[in-house]
Amino acid sequence: MAEGILLIISGPSGVGKGTVCRHLMSIKDTVKLSVSTTTRSPRTGEEEGREYNFTTLSRFKEMINEGAFLEWAVVHGHYYGTSLSTVQSHLAGGEVLILEIDVQGAAQIRKKSPDSVFVFLAPPSLEALENRITGRGTESPEKINRRLITARREMNSYHLYDYIVVNDTVEQAAALIGAIIDAEKCKVSRGARPPGWGGES
Ligand code: 5GP
Repeated sequence: MAEGILLIISGPSGVGKGTVCRHLMSIKDTVKLSVSTTTRSPRTGEEEGREYNFTTLSRFKEMINEGAFLEWAVVHGHYYGTSLSTVQSHLAGGEVLILEIDVQGAAQIRKKSPDSVFVFLAPPSLEALENRITGRGTESPEKINRRLITARREMNSYHLYDYIVVNDTVEQAAALIGAIIDAEKCKVSRGARPPGWGGES
């Protein structure tokens, strides 16, 4: 079986990465989303093990020392990391695994796993993004301000990615990412062969 595909999706806070990823999984049932570990507290409606594995700072630091993370970063003052063993087992099973991570994490994966696919999800405009961050209503003005600053900085990192997908509508953005996955699966360098070819190189 061909190795799976690691698909990195980044984009500024508020661009709608979570919604697009959920829609993508609803139209492509072979796509799985990696659940990260974080030291931030759960938001209302979030569940342990579904959105994140929530943990303490001291446990997170232990996990760094144990080599448990493929990548980790501090975002908005909290630690976030991707489990190395989760990624390894999904890829060995030939699956498409999405990592919804920030630009620092994506840069680490570019070095460690360069054949991953890097997608930058962009808003239709900066104004639309700022309206979404301000309007979410779940956070204090200080936290909103921090997210706005990070969002503008993250927009400047688009050139580190292979693809830019604009989140005009969730359906269009998810369909485009689905098309990117289909194209990646057709790559000879990923093991695609003509029917009956048997996989010899
Ligand atoms: P939130 O707290 O709003 O769910 O996520 C904040 C930011 O952390 C988002 O940009 C999200 O993509 C990023 N993030 C979530 N999980 C990870 C991870 O495992 N590693 C890295 N580097 N960033 C992450």
